[in-house]
Amino acid sequence: KRKHRMDLLPDQLVRKSIKHGFCFNILCIGETGIGKSALMSSLFNTNFDNSPSTHFLSSVRLRTQTYELQESNVLLKLTIVKTLGFGDQVNKADSYQPIVDYVDAQFEAYLEEELKVIRSLFSYHDTRIHVCLYFISPTGRSLKTIDLLTMRNLDSKVNIIPVIGKADSISKTELQEFKKKIMSELVSNGIRIYQFPTDDETVSGINTMTNGYLPFAVVGSMEKVKVGNKMVRARQYPWGIVKVENESHCDTIKLRRMLCTNMEDLREKTRAYYESYRCCRLEKLGCRDIGPENKSISLQEVVEAKRLEFCLEKEEKEKKIKQQFMQKVNKKAAVLEEAEQQANTHKQEIMSYEEQLRDLGLFSLK
Ligand code: GDP
Repeated sequence: KRKHRMDLLPDQLVRKSIKHGFCFNILCIGETGIGKSALMSSLFNTNFDNSPSTHFLSSVRLRTQTYELQESNVLLKLTIVKTLGFGDQVNKADSYQPIVDYVDAQFEAYLEEELKVIRSLFSYHDTRIHVCLYFISPTGRSLKTIDLLTMRNLDSKVNIIPVIGKADSISKTELQEFKKKIMSELVSNGIRIYQFPTDDETVSGINTMTNGYLPFAVVGSMEKVKVGNKMVRARQYPWGIVKVENESHCDTIKLRRMLCTNMEDLREKTRAYYESYRCCRLEKLGCRDIGPENKSISLQEVVEAKRLEFCLEKEEKEKKIKQQFMQKVNKKAAVLEEAEQQANTHKQEIMSYEEQLRDLGLFSLK
């Protein structure tokens, strides 16, 4: 039986999820061919369908695929969102925009569901992004402008875990230097990445250590190679084999372990990102928590206040329309009156003319 490595999930989460299943949504950002698909297949030990993407897209797009993975009796609804054409355009200044829009759109969809009168959040397919794996090219040099721009525009919306893609193409000493450089560049540019939580004592030791491995140096492969009498996921080269699941070869297994053990924390932090999105949106819609001493007031009160505001606005509008209508009617009436007066003077003139003719005895008009 194939293993999806869900055995690493904490017991409590497993118990809760056995009944309903749960969803987890990963966003992979990285240039075309950096190894996003291979890493996803390696992390979940399943070869997901993968059609290679071209380098000739005129703008960045996103491809979403949802899979249902069953492990023992836990159902995981996994959504993988990958960028297409990232870094392929000449002008990369707004490459991040479609990604930011996508993340926001998932928040918006959730908010819409939440605001419905009859909500079905329980069966709703939550597509909010729980984690974003940002693939850095293994150049050994600095981060690129596109990396800094993209991460900076996303760090208040999503948990970012930076990874160095195709890490087998960089030497061990260079890799350590590169990792340090990346971390210091992230700090000096004020980019906040996801930190594995260290406040819970059961995981604080391992999480503190793992934070020290960031960014993870990952290697992925779609292939399995025979090593001894076992088939292992690996990349085979003329000079040797890089084993994806060997911790001295790369950090892929660490990433998998950390994603699984911190899944609940990632989901919780996502809820916090959503909260601030929701807050902004509702404020823009005019909802505000105001009351004595800024005390929060119930949603019912907010709705009632909104309803009153709406009624007053409606009344005001109706009054205005009535006024405009009356003005028009009065204007028309004045015009009609004037016309009638003119007609009357005309009639009188004709009558006096008739009289004059009759007096002269010429002829009668009637
Ligand atoms: P994507 O476009 O980012 O999804 O990249 P793919 O996963 O399709 O990989 C593109 C190419 O890079 C394929 O030929 C993979 O075999 C290769 N590749 C993927 N992961 C790695 C890796 O970790 N190391 C190396 N050297 N090559 C990789």
